[in-house]
Amino acid sequence: SKYVYDFAEGNKDLKDLLGGKGANLAEMTNLGLPVPPGFTITTEACQAYLTTGREPDGLAAQIEAHLESLEREMGRRLGDPADPLLVSVRSGAKFSMPGMMETVLNVGLNDRSVIGLSTQAGGNDRFAWDSYRRLIQMFGKTVCEVPGEEFEHALDDAKHAKGTRNDLDLDADDLRALVDAYKKIFAKHTGREFPQEPREQLDLAIRAVFDSWNAERAILYRRQERIPADLGTAVNVVSMVFGNLGPDSGTGVAFTRDPGSGAQGIYGDYLANAQGEDVVAGIRNTVPLQELEQLDKTSYDQLLGIMARLEEHYKDLCDIEFTIERGKLWMLQTRVGKRTAAAAFVIAGQLVDEGLIDLDEALHRVNGAQLAQLMFPRFQLDHDVPPVARGIGASPGAASGKVVFTSARAVELAAEGESVILVRRETNPDDLNGMIAAKGILTSRGGKTSHAAVVARGMGKTCVSGADELEVNVPAKKFTVGGHTVGEGDVVSIDGTTGKVYLGEVPVMPSEVVQYFEGSLDPEHIDNPLVRAVHRIMTHADGARRLRVRTNADTGADAARARRFGAEGIGLCRTEHMFLGDRRELVERLILAGGGRERDEALAALLPLQRADFVEIFREMDGLPVTVRLIDPPLHEFLPPLEQLAVNVAVAQERGEDVAKEEALLSAVRRMHEENPMLGLRGVRLGLVIPGLFAMQVRAIAEAAVAVARDGGTACPEIMVPLVGAVQELETVRAEAEKIIAEVVGDSGVDVLIGTMIEVPRAALTAGQIAEAAEFFSFGTNDLTQMGWGFSRDDVEGAFFWRYLELGIFGISPFESIDADGVGRLVRIAAEEGRAARPGLKLGVCGEHGGDPDSVHFFHEVGLDYVSCSPFRVPVARLEAGRAAI
Ligand code: PEP
Ligand code: MG
Repeated sequence: SKYVYDFAEGNKDLKDLLGGKGANLAEMTNLGLPVPPGFTITTEACQAYLTTGREPDGLAAQIEAHLESLEREMGRRLGDPADPLLVSVRSGAKFSMPGMMETVLNVGLNDRSVIGLSTQAGGNDRFAWDSYRRLIQMFGKTVCEVPGEEFEHALDDAKHAKGTRNDLDLDADDLRALVDAYKKIFAKHTGREFPQEPREQLDLAIRAVFDSWNAERAILYRRQERIPADLGTAVNVVSMVFGNLGPDSGTGVAFTRDPGSGAQGIYGDYLANAQGEDVVAGIRNTVPLQELEQLDKTSYDQLLGIMARLEEHYKDLCDIEFTIERGKLWMLQTRVGKRTAAAAFVIAGQLVDEGLIDLDEALHRVNGAQLAQLMFPRFQLDHDVPPVARGIGASPGAASGKVVFTSARAVELAAEGESVILVRRETNPDDLNGMIAAKGILTSRGGKTSHAAVVARGMGKTCVSGADELEVNVPAKKFTVGGHTVGEGDVVSIDGTTGKVYLGEVPVMPSEVVQYFEGSLDPEHIDNPLVRAVHRIMTHADGARRLRVRTNADTGADAARARRFGAEGIGLCRTEHMFLGDRRELVERLILAGGGRERDEALAALLPLQRADFVEIFREMDGLPVTVRLIDPPLHEFLPPLEQLAVNVAVAQERGEDVAKEEALLSAVRRMHEENPMLGLRGVRLGLVIPGLFAMQVRAIAEAAVAVARDGGTACPEIMVPLVGAVQELETVRAEAEKIIAEVVGDSGVDVLIGTMIEVPRAALTAGQIAEAAEFFSFGTNDLTQMGWGFSRDDVEGAFFWRYLELGIFGISPFESIDADGVGRLVRIAAEEGRAARPGLKLGVCGEHGGDPDSVHFFHEVGLDYVSCSPFRVPVARLEAGRAAI
């Protein structure tokens, strides 16, 4: 097979084979841009090497042939003592893995060719010896695993001896001595001399790049980013160009637009007389790219021309790396550049205006996660306020509050109405209460999948993790950072999007995108490019999507807001929420009622309250479907806690009080106590056990609908029965409900549908039978996930998910994004068998997954009619449903 491609043989679509860097170098070469000649060794060669432990047959000969033709083209031979060709050896996988794998520069230098390099550079000895010491350093570290600090110490010693801190003050003699020192370090650690043979250097460097695919940090990065482990990396062998040959040389990076805001213009940094790694290492400060115009106008103009050309060609924001060698511009890399959420929308809109892409493509270029980010409030920073530390943006949002170091203190202060930020080295399951009480969470350890990060995201709470500049001392109740000491009660502000930490309070401003969705910003008349772009792309998504988007809401206010956000109905109105607060006592009476009269009284008291609830919601959702779910309480949420009750009774008895009533309550609560309430007397089971409960609700729904219709409105109720596992359960409820509906509705013209949730695995597997008794299904993917996996949705996220994520057992919590293979399969089976039994069966989903981008694509593909999600997720679901459809 063909393992080596000349740059002229590849193109940008060959990323699988040539990696991102190689494919784009090839593309630029074929565009006629100034790319230093070279070739790419394929990912297939790497895969073969990694599986067999040796280079595949034929690879060495192909490298030889491509090297020879490179040498011919350059008119120089690799490592030739008189006039050497030098090459860089660079990794480049299909997906960018920044800093994860290896690069070796200046391959081909040795004790003899270093002299030739000096001659080539016009007698520049300093440059030649500096290049040589860089080779030994990089080669030693990456190819032979010599500890990098040893080289750095030797370099520091050399500077110290010279009385300077600047590399540039070391002259040729100093650097020659440094090369000797480096060679000794190399020999000490490897037991051999630094290889002088250029081809051996090249082969070892290539092999090291292959091996770096399986470096520990690369494995970890892939696991977190869900990059398959078997892709392998390509290796690019590129003839060296030098940005460190004097003031007429230099190196830089640039973006074709601002990756922060999307604004058009020239964004980049330049460093004269330097090589790429100097920029990364921050040895000297870069200057804005615009200053290159003064330094070298020809190269600057050429660069701008190339940037325009690349944008037009890639039809997107590109980022580039370039080097100028003695006034000659070279392109070292380009790729479609990363950008912020705001820039993604703005740029997509601009590219449509420029005629480079159409609206379908614009919709592809943005996503729901970005839109969700734009909906969080942000810090209002008038000028560049420096953060005091920077960690990982683990869960987005902006939060200010008083610092606390323990969960207990967080709970205390929050109860007093204070905003608190819980600061820990890392959190553990014991911190859950504190995390719930806090406005935000800040840790000095741990990444995006640490306990703190996972739990905070699950709660939608702002979190910065891994801010490792913080020295957190929990016993002393303080942390130190950059010379500041912050104690309990001091105020800090954290930005969970950028990971930045600020001392003191930073004012928070609402998101313009939310203001737009709420209807207070008119996209046609404001000068905000982001809002205009969001409006345009959302409008297109709405036109394209096949999935309807409903909301989960159980109050008129939530329903109204969701409707402004574009909800096309309510997919889940959880009625148990209507029984909390003052009404809890009525429910308690109902559940514990011995028999007829008591129960009827409790129900009669609840009926008008329920009816009023539904009238309010039907009015807000006038003309749109409203799925009302009959009560589904895990019983323990409605009864007084057993222990508390037992203590109260004992205390009262002690005091000689009359406790007959309390004792009756206690024994009833004991009788109904459940070890696993989530698997207990819930949903339809409760409806079947407590006569009259569901009937009261059905009556309230029907009466409310009729009342709204009488006022000239249109109510479209859909009654949904929860937790059904067998068709007989549904049939029983249905028979009773139909009688009541017929009686209430009469000839009012109101139409009431009856359907069921599919949230118990057995329901999914018997969906064909259940569909006989249901006019619609709504998938309750929260319970379906809980029961499908057999883990408690209320307990496990904080308890062990962080470990599962770390191990890669799943890439994301299955409560957040649907487990397509397992739980999703149940959805698929139920959808197919349900529709087969009852063509036209309406299908929706109302678990949390309804607002998750990947899950929305899954539900689209399965062919559901709608997703239903919390009001704030409605725009995200609309966007993703549109993206799924194009
Ligand atoms: C579900 O289980 O997915 C669902 C929507 O119901 P709940 O979350 O109320 O159990
Ligand atoms: Mg449920």
